[in-house]
Amino acid sequence: MTENLELYIAGEWTEGTGDQSHALRSPVTGEHIANVPLASPADIDRAVQAARTATEEMRYWSAFERAEMCLRVAAAIEPLIEEIARIQTLEQGKPYHAESLADIAEANQYFYNAAEDVKRLAGEVIPTSDRHKRMFTFRRPVGVWAAITPWNFPVTIPLEYVGPGLATGNAVIVKPPEFTSWALLKLAQAIDEAGVPKGAVSIIPGGPSIGQYLVEHPGIDAIGYTGSSATGRKILSSMGIKRSIMEMSGNGPTIVAADANLDAAASLAVYGAYYNAGQVCCATERVIVLDEVHDEFVELAAKASAEVVLGDPFDEKTTMGPLNNEPTAAKMDRHLNEARERGAKVIIGGGRASGYPTDLYYDFTIVDGVPEDSALSQEESFGPVLPVLKAGDDEEAVAIANRSNLGLQAAVFTSSLAKAFWYVDRVRSGTVVVNDSTDFWETFQPFGGAAGTDTGWGRGRIEEFTDLQTMVIDLSNAR
Ligand code: NAD
Repeated sequence: MTENLELYIAGEWTEGTGDQSHALRSPVTGEHIANVPLASPADIDRAVQAARTATEEMRYWSAFERAEMCLRVAAAIEPLIEEIARIQTLEQGKPYHAESLADIAEANQYFYNAAEDVKRLAGEVIPTSDRHKRMFTFRRPVGVWAAITPWNFPVTIPLEYVGPGLATGNAVIVKPPEFTSWALLKLAQAIDEAGVPKGAVSIIPGGPSIGQYLVEHPGIDAIGYTGSSATGRKILSSMGIKRSIMEMSGNGPTIVAADANLDAAASLAVYGAYYNAGQVCCATERVIVLDEVHDEFVELAAKASAEVVLGDPFDEKTTMGPLNNEPTAAKMDRHLNEARERGAKVIIGGGRASGYPTDLYYDFTIVDGVPEDSALSQEESFGPVLPVLKAGDDEEAVAIANRSNLGLQAAVFTSSLAKAFWYVDRVRSGTVVVNDSTDFWETFQPFGGAAGTDTGWGRGRIEEFTDLQTMVIDLSNAR
């Protein structure tokens, strides 16, 4: 059955006034599962207007009142987790049991975290040079945010903005891609039930034109963008003078030092390459192995790949589902073909799997001898592939890791504490994880791009959703 979805705008469910809709097809079955109405500019204007009214109201609430609101939303989400996770699997493709359920429960953590954090978000009393003056700071909301989000974590990433945004008195208009918006629209039911002020959250699915209209809108104060660096560049050139958090592409290097626990390194590198079919910003996109342990590592990685069970993402045994969309699968094809032509060796996998309902099921792939300047090594492949590169020594491993324009999350495997710090001091990356996967991630972890890279800025901390206002008072000049 095909579901006719509605937009959530200004606290109301509506078909909108646009004359177009998107036919949502499941990457799992290929079936037409839903119709998503596409908003008109007038619908977006209405959402922005309602958002402005909502943030003006919430600005005067106490932090404790806003924390209570976040807890009410979280409580309303709890009974919906299974259904949201099921829809997410159907529209995105990630395995229901192995990933989707935990993913939605974790996404809800953003409301719990925000409810705690906002109550500890103190201003300052700043010493002054003049004995009659007193100086204070207050944390005000930034205002109305447009959250432009990607399809790989259709619920988690929007909530990274909505949770701390609401807790600090902001309104957030989320624009998810039209082809992964159903799970989030389902979740909006909880936001509605929790008595959030009308307009404080609106969900407007759509593609580049709706996104562009929103980011350029004069009623938007700040952009929370998560997506590719290429789109981020376009947004930055069109959004005007607005606050921003820019969370963009990664090319997660994993370095395996000569003294590493190779079993752990192999199994966690494989995990980092196949979790969510590799469609993760901090996926293990290349593994740089020291020469002397290279052969053993490759052998262990091939063994560890036995844990990858490609199949129907609703099956309990499945650990990897289909890719979400054809452009991502085609990019994998391109990267693998180029690496092969340039002499790289495919150890296992190497292409699309046959016998599935869609052409998006991809075999887990390990490629050895990957040329450093190939697209498979230099670009974000965003698929289930573990490209292996060799380094002669630790210095060379760092140099390879850093010869990239991206720097989100790296991993280093070593058994030496001194070597761990040596690497962390040198690898240019927003996060360096030691002895775990590049896919390690916590909702409270400061997460974002290293300066000087195309990965962006911001760490998603609650402070970033506030505007610091300073008050100065002269005690001697009052009558
Ligand atoms: P994308 O760049 O194709 O799209 C991202 C969002 O931008 C979508 O909502 C899209 O509709 C919108 N958009 C496209 N053009 C626009 C425009 N001109 N103006 C306004 N909005 C526009 O990215 P994607 O393929 O959806 O997501 C995958 C990318 O996201 C990968 O590069 C991945 O690394 C990155 N990502 C980063 C993080 C992080 O935290 N750093 C997390 C998840 C994903």
